[in-house]
Amino acid sequence: MTKSLERLATTIRRETLAELLSIGYGHFGGSLSIVEALAVLYGKHLNYDASNPAWDARDRFILSKGHAGPALYATLAVCGFFPSSELKTLNSNGTSLPSHPDRKLIPGVEMTTGSMGQGLSVAAGLAYGLRSQGSSSRVYAIVGDGELNEGQCWEALQFISHQCLTNLVVMIDDNKRQLDHRRDRRRPHPGSRQRPASRDRARHRQGRGRRVPGGPRRQPPCSPRRRR
Ligand SMILES: [Mg+2]
Repeated sequence: MTKSLERLATTIRRETLAELLSIGYGHFGGSLSIVEALAVLYGKHLNYDASNPAWDARDRFILSKGHAGPALYATLAVCGFFPSSELKTLNSNGTSLPSHPDRKLIPGVEMTTGSMGQGLSVAAGLAYGLRSQGSSSRVYAIVGDGELNEGQCWEALQFISHQCLTNLVVMIDDNKRQLDHRRDRRRPHPGSRQRPASRDRARHRQGRGRRVPGGPRRQPPCSPRRRR
């Protein structure tokens, strides 16, 4: 991480803490564990225009672990989407910053999140739609490690692999916490046993280069095989 990104991360962390301390409660850990990822995304990789959040050519960012909303709000404010003074209204009556992001209230928020496991499916749909339209925009998503117990996440990952969505970047926030406990002390979801089989199927599909309808002409090496 460069010095400028470190400074951005520090600013986001400071604003996130001030925001949460102003109400005295909230998801401190879950918010602070994604600060560096947000700094790298908004400081380096994402294409966006803070003065025109609906810009067609923008990259999309989905915060699937919606309880980390305060960190996203701080990032958006620091990057100029809305005034930083609004951060102090977090979760208060009449605020546009509820504890979980609402796409209808906050400029720069692409999806209302908070129900765990749904963000990855939406990110996959966005990436599929953008590719079908011939757009060069990319989709980025941050998912929680505990959130991956949701079966919907694994269905989304299978879809992403099958459709070879190379315009989608998924980042897992491996903070080793889930709700109020260490993640590794919880019993694994029965669906997690599907992981090895899913990986095998993904490998099996690799190298079978057939063009996906609506996809780019030159397919990457992991082009999926059309289902019969
Ligand atoms: Mg976690």
